[in-house]
Amino acid sequence: MMKRRDFILGGLGGMAALTAGQAVAQDPLARALQHYMQELERAERQAGYLGPRITIPQAQKVTDGVYTVVGSMIWHNPSNYGLNNNLSFMIFENGVFVFNGSANPALSQALHRQIQQITDKPVRWVAVENHQGHAHLGSSYWYDMGVRNFYSQRQAHADFHASWDIIKDRWSRAVGHQLTAPAYDISDEFTVFDERMDIDVGGGEVVQMHYFGKGHTPGSTTLYVPSRNVIFPGDNAYESRMLALFNYTDTQAWVKTFERFMEFTPEGTIIVPGHGVPTDMATVKRDTYDYLKWMHREIQAIIDAGGSLREAENLDQSQFSHREVYAQTFAGNARHIYRELKGLDLGDAVD
Ligand SMILES: [Zn+2]
Repeated sequence: MMKRRDFILGGLGGMAALTAGQAVAQDPLARALQHYMQELERAERQAGYLGPRITIPQAQKVTDGVYTVVGSMIWHNPSNYGLNNNLSFMIFENGVFVFNGSANPALSQALHRQIQQITDKPVRWVAVENHQGHAHLGSSYWYDMGVRNFYSQRQAHADFHASWDIIKDRWSRAVGHQLTAPAYDISDEFTVFDERMDIDVGGGEVVQMHYFGKGHTPGSTTLYVPSRNVIFPGDNAYESRMLALFNYTDTQAWVKTFERFMEFTPEGTIIVPGHGVPTDMATVKRDTYDYLKWMHREIQAIIDAGGSLREAENLDQSQFSHREVYAQTFAGNARHIYRELKGLDLGDAVD
């Protein structure tokens, strides 16, 4: 509760040099504003959700009772409302299971409206793919709607809990304060798991949550639903789009994690990737694992020949130039892998 108010006060400008607490103590305007925000919050809770309404792409049917909204393939920005990953839901006997809390409550509400057009069953479970803003910032919407079962892998949960304010601020600035401001931290409501947890969703069906290891992010959740023949590897598998490597991405571990994911997944299972359209294993392997293995080989060859960071950046990756966000990622990916292979500092960042 305090975090939310502090964020709103801090985000309104003019008080940047003061902490929110100091500002409130010294400034009658800030006191009035704080009172206003408390009243607004009370009204919001009574009404459910009063923020802006947005329209998102129609959910695709993946298989019986399984749907996904395929997010934009470019960066999160105001035009896509932060919907640049996939938001999925599955309808079971005892209710609806949502995968990813989304980037803000407005997005979650837009997804909820689509769910309500397909089923009158309530959303009972929400799991998030990793610690990133578009995985968990919108979770508070589901809490306000009465959902009480939230799941995340332990490391991912620790990361988003610790970085909540920074992540929210970054996503606010990239996507818009108006959409992001209503989000508040419900970390305490999450159940965490280490390697695996199974959720009984009724009708004899089970949703399995797995952690296959570090990769795109240090912690992540893969959902597997054997009865529907579908698996959701989150950002550990991309379709079509270029991989985005962050300071926290461990690409050496990622290929091993991907190998465990391949080993685990029965042949013919439908893959709903973190980015891109539902597909098969061969496609996500090509667009994720094969790209990383190729990069490791090529960058290692540059290092072995005494090549510089600049030479790594100039590696010819044009065979991937048809892939979305190629121009924004290829040089950064080369730099990241060069630093990894040389054991250099990758910096610290959250997103
Ligand atoms: Zn992501």
